[in-house]
Amino acid sequence: SVSVALFTADLRIHDNPVLRAALDGADEVVPLFVLDQGVRAAGFDVPNRRAFLADSLADLDAALRERGGRLVVRSGDVAEETCAVAAGCGARQVHVAGDVSGYAQVREERLRRRLASDGRELYVHDTVVTALPPGEVTPQGRDHFAVFTPYFRRWAAVRHRPVLEPPRRVRVPEGTGSAALPSRSEVSGVSPGLARGGESVGRARFESWRKGPMKAYADRHDDLPADATSRLSPHLHFGTLSPVELVRRARRTGGAGADAFVRQLAWRDFHHQVLAARPHASWEDYRARGDRWRHDEDEIAAWREGRTGYPLVDAAMRQLLHEGWMHNRARLLTASFLTKTLYTDWRVGARHFLGLLVDGDVANNQLNWQWVAGTGNDTRPNRVLNPLTQARRFDPDGDYVRRWVPELAGVEGASVHRPWKLPSRERARLDYPGPLVDLAEGADRFLRARGR
Ligand code: FAD
Repeated sequence: SVSVALFTADLRIHDNPVLRAALDGADEVVPLFVLDQGVRAAGFDVPNRRAFLADSLADLDAALRERGGRLVVRSGDVAEETCAVAAGCGARQVHVAGDVSGYAQVREERLRRRLASDGRELYVHDTVVTALPPGEVTPQGRDHFAVFTPYFRRWAAVRHRPVLEPPRRVRVPEGTGSAALPSRSEVSGVSPGLARGGESVGRARFESWRKGPMKAYADRHDDLPADATSRLSPHLHFGTLSPVELVRRARRTGGAGADAFVRQLAWRDFHHQVLAARPHASWEDYRARGDRWRHDEDEIAAWREGRTGYPLVDAAMRQLLHEGWMHNRARLLTASFLTKTLYTDWRVGARHFLGLLVDGDVANNQLNWQWVAGTGNDTRPNRVLNPLTQARRFDPDGDYVRRWVPELAGVEGASVHRPWKLPSRERARLDYPGPLVDLAEGADRFLRARGR
């Protein structure tokens, strides 16, 4: 018999319940990936993620070939293409990962119906995209946790499923046609410093990080110039790494760094379970605060392009443009600056981030934006992050700013955070703008609007 393993956000052979179940139930398997029209139509198919996806598909194909198989790629409507492939090879079963975004939920339902109309069955597997399935732990009488700490207590007490070995052999039925694999070199508009994708790269990165920097993660994760976080988020987004395996291996390694890392992985699951229960939170306020956001195109452009005149904000926004990735502390600060200091709608920022972030996904991006904007799950929704205070704490010597803002590269020490205080002759030589807003006025405006 034959079955289909439909890959989505699980582009890996290690610890993949979808691939494992498809192989267990059949003699031959079609490992299928559909370049989904729907994702493209939704504008979600942006250059940085397309490039990372191309790397990841090439790597998955190579891993399958080492085992005697190959990846079958199709392009078009995911339900139609999957059904056509299943019909072509006579597969009665299709396996896929459960996922939470509104789009993924609709996709699953369409697939199920389309396959059923042909007499075929869809099997949906949990613990592929997240370590814990949404809804696995809930507070009494509610469908999801709205606060992280009680969620984490329950999350941490659950026994995760065992980690699955990669298959030794994959037999693909002959005659299953495939489109050419997409290639990174065909994608234009990619950020120059974008990381490479693929399971092999992801596994190597996790290994070296686990053995080294993870030890110091608890103390250094907020240190901007140290860049001491794992940078595994794109691999988790595309599923080139398995969250269940990362939790398991970090826990086995042990120590304060591993504990702190596992806690961050739980944040990812936390946002997924919120979105699964409240799919509208992808674009609507999770908790409306009656905001009447401002919308000033010049200010928004200055924020996007990293010319607000606040060096830490600008450094972060330029890191995003250059790498398609930004440090978490920098994401918090830039999002607070846009939504609170400039009092601009979080959706404006979320859209810009989704256009560039290689790890950009609806659950983590939108719900973190809402968290910062105070329309989400932050229990202190009105806190405003001050870029100068953040600079003192997380970039005290200014190295992060000098790395990303070349106009300021010649300014030494912490004074790089306040270029407006430099002697006027030195100031005049810098091709760098003055502050876009007064921080105190911005914060006051926001707090007044929120009735504080
Ligand atoms: P590490 O510090 O090494 O953490 C390990 C992993 O834990 C990460 O790879 C990530 O999967 C998860 N994680 C860590 N922090 C968070 C968090 N706050 N929420 C959810 N998961 C977390 N993360 C995304 O994956 N995609 C996004 O689109 C995204 N958008 C964000 C937007 C804003 C405004 C903010 C404040 C945060 C956003 N994050 C997003 C969360 C976080 O910033 C990134 O996951 C993190 O910076 C990735 O770097 P890392 O892999 O080195 O993280």
